Amino acid sequence: MSRFDAVVVGAGPAGSTAARELAAAGARVLVADRAEFPRYKACGGGIPLRTERLLPFPIDSVVEDSVSLLQVTHHRGSRFVRDSGAPFAHMVMRDRFDALLLDQARTAGAEFRPNTRVTGLEQNGRVRVLADGFAAEADYLICADGAHSPVGKMAGLGEGIAECAAWEVEVAAPAPKLRAYRSTALIDLGYDPWGYAWLFPKASVLSIGVVVPRELGGTMKDSVQAFIDRLGLGGADVDIARGHKIRLRRGGEPIAGQRALLAGDAAGLADEFTEEGIFYAIESGRIAARNVLRALGQGRGVERYQRDIDREVMPELRAARLVAFMFYGMLRRAPRPWMLVSGHIPFLWNAFFAVQRGESTYAREAARVPLLPGLAARMLAD
Ligand SMILES: Cc1cc2nc3c(=O)[nH]c(=O)nc-3n(C[C@H](O)[C@H](O)[C@H](O)COP(=O)(O)OP(=O)(O)OC[C@H]3O[C@@H](n4cnc5c(N)ncnc54)[C@H](O)[C@@H]3O)c2cc1C
Repeated sequence: MSRFDAVVVGAGPAGSTAARELAAAGARVLVADRAEFPRYKACGGGIPLRTERLLPFPIDSVVEDSVSLLQVTHHRGSRFVRDSGAPFAHMVMRDRFDALLLDQARTAGAEFRPNTRVTGLEQNGRVRVLADGFAAEADYLICADGAHSPVGKMAGLGEGIAECAAWEVEVAAPAPKLRAYRSTALIDLGYDPWGYAWLFPKASVLSIGVVVPRELGGTMKDSVQAFIDRLGLGGADVDIARGHKIRLRRGGEPIAGQRALLAGDAAGLADEFTEEGIFYAIESGRIAARNVLRALGQGRGVERYQRDIDREVMPELRAARLVAFMFYGMLRRAPRPWMLVSGHIPFLWNAFFAVQRGESTYAREAARVPLLPGLAARMLAD
């Protein structure tokens, strides 16, 4: 049987980042994924500049477009455009982006095993992962196995984490439509009680999708089709259509035990204003690697990972949640006035762009508005 310092299940951004940092520090690491890479992942592929800043290598080779314009529409009519003056996010296709992150992990020395669906886990001092005809043993296990997190569940972690649902299609739009959305991220509001549809430009397709509360998952396909029709893209070919859930950790849900921990979507680290999770997947992958290295050095458990996430990541997720409750609450109560007002509050969108670029944080921006917690609580109560 193969033996490692750490086994990472899942080669998405969380797993590949953890594996790269562990291998670069000299640890023996195996990354196992049920898929062959590159693999498609349902995702808008919006990579805010703050996410790029976390990576010690360039991602230019996989950037399909960079956006500096934010167009916001409400599907009952109103719209506004904010120009951030310079790019605030890159647009990627996840198959190429994730393959780049995995390549970097392999270059650093991590071993990769594709087509390996982990179906069993034994914890007895060390951890042993089992797949069809394969077993590997390690001191520590990083479950970076996405929002369903089957291996995290086997480890007894992640219970109680909230969820929402998203649906994504890749539209092979005609050239004039592709040109019309260059450098522009389009967000469509008005989904009750909250949620948004998006159009993100890529080199040869438009990624279009919607995110809504889990209970409304059954409406997603119709909402996306209605959005596509409103955009005048009803006749265009849809290449891929796929749904996935997004997990949202809100409190002290368990994400670390003695030998195993959860990173990325498995740990519910996505923010509730934009529902983006790649930033937090990479950040938690780094924190996971740091904790495993410390535990390896001291011969201890990785329980401290949860404290580190609570201290370093959760304040930002809580602040994003406050902003979301305030924003969607106002939109629900007074859609037209709120669209009009928010479109003309430079502070709101400048703060958003600063967070996206990594020049500020939700926590810092939220702290500038002392009334925000009270306002968000009132909106939540309605
Ligand atoms: C429709 C949609 C749109 C989104 N748009 C954006 C966006 O624009 N920007 C953004 O930042 N975030 C977005 N997100 C969120 C983002 O996709 C996730 O936060 C991100 O992928 C999390 O990365 P991860 O590494 O934790 O998990 P994943 O990228 O999901 O990787 C998990 C890996 O685990 C593997 N795996 C699962 N089970 C097993 C098993 N039993 N054995 C072996 N391998 C296994 C899978 O094959 C997969 O490769 C979106 C999500 C959805 C659903």
